[in-house]
Amino acid sequence: GSRLFHPQDTVIHTPHAVIGGNEFVMMAGPCSVESEEHVKKMARVAKKGGAKIVRGGAFKPRTSPYSFQGLGEEGLKYLREAADENEMDMITEVMDDEHVEMVAKYTDIFQIGARNMQNFSLLKTVGKTNIPVALKRGMSATIDDLLNAAEYIASEGNRQIMLLERGIRTFDNKYTRNTFDLGAVPVLQKLTHYPVIVDPSHAVGEWDLVTPMALAGTASGASGMIVEIHDEPDKALSDGPQALKPKTYLKMAQKVFEVHQVI
Ligand code: PEP
Ligand code: MN
Repeated sequence: GSRLFHPQDTVIHTPHAVIGGNEFVMMAGPCSVESEEHVKKMARVAKKGGAKIVRGGAFKPRTSPYSFQGLGEEGLKYLREAADENEMDMITEVMDDEHVEMVAKYTDIFQIGARNMQNFSLLKTVGKTNIPVALKRGMSATIDDLLNAAEYIASEGNRQIMLLERGIRTFDNKYTRNTFDLGAVPVLQKLTHYPVIVDPSHAVGEWDLVTPMALAGTASGASGMIVEIHDEPDKALSDGPQALKPKTYLKMAQKVFEVHQVI
């Protein structure tokens, strides 16, 4: 993935979106696919804010095994329908090798979660497909660790890779869930030709901190953003505290596109 051998940007085309180059892509949706009705409602909100891609987890990497683990294949079906009804594409996390084939039947983009960034077997399996992969930086991963993880995908043949900065653990994560490493955005762009996407939601973990860091992430030069939304964050099955309500999301998205215009 080095610029040295491949100076031009990688531009990824999904049915409704262009990721990389001078484009800016908005991806939004709930943390988890919670129900058919809910994910469809959230997809309509996402689209209204200019999102071309709807997100939602059907397989959730929860810290506790007793937390909601996702709806599985049923969730994939609901997210696929939510995307199609709104002429959008979908992104969803794949957690295990044995699910790659099933998730591939539904998704336009595989999300590899922070906790799986160095699951080399999973990386190689998605690397054997021709579906774009969004690789999230591990919470304790260096920039070189992230680039090496991307190589595991690319070396199997799949070069449609985007890199996601979602915050890392540092000595001070009392007030923010993680530390948003915005410097990583231009550094990654200097080192690699893959598009870089920011995830302010997981970076800060609190909804009222998301808009300022979404704007900062856009100003850093990212090719796009992935953001969590929910109409009733108190009732969300995962990551409620960081979810933007529809009105807040729409305001944030408008400002984000304005910032992207001027950089
Ligand atoms: C998510 O996108 O909901 C998620 C679990 O993200 P991460 O892997 O970055 O923690
Ligand atoms: Mn989440």
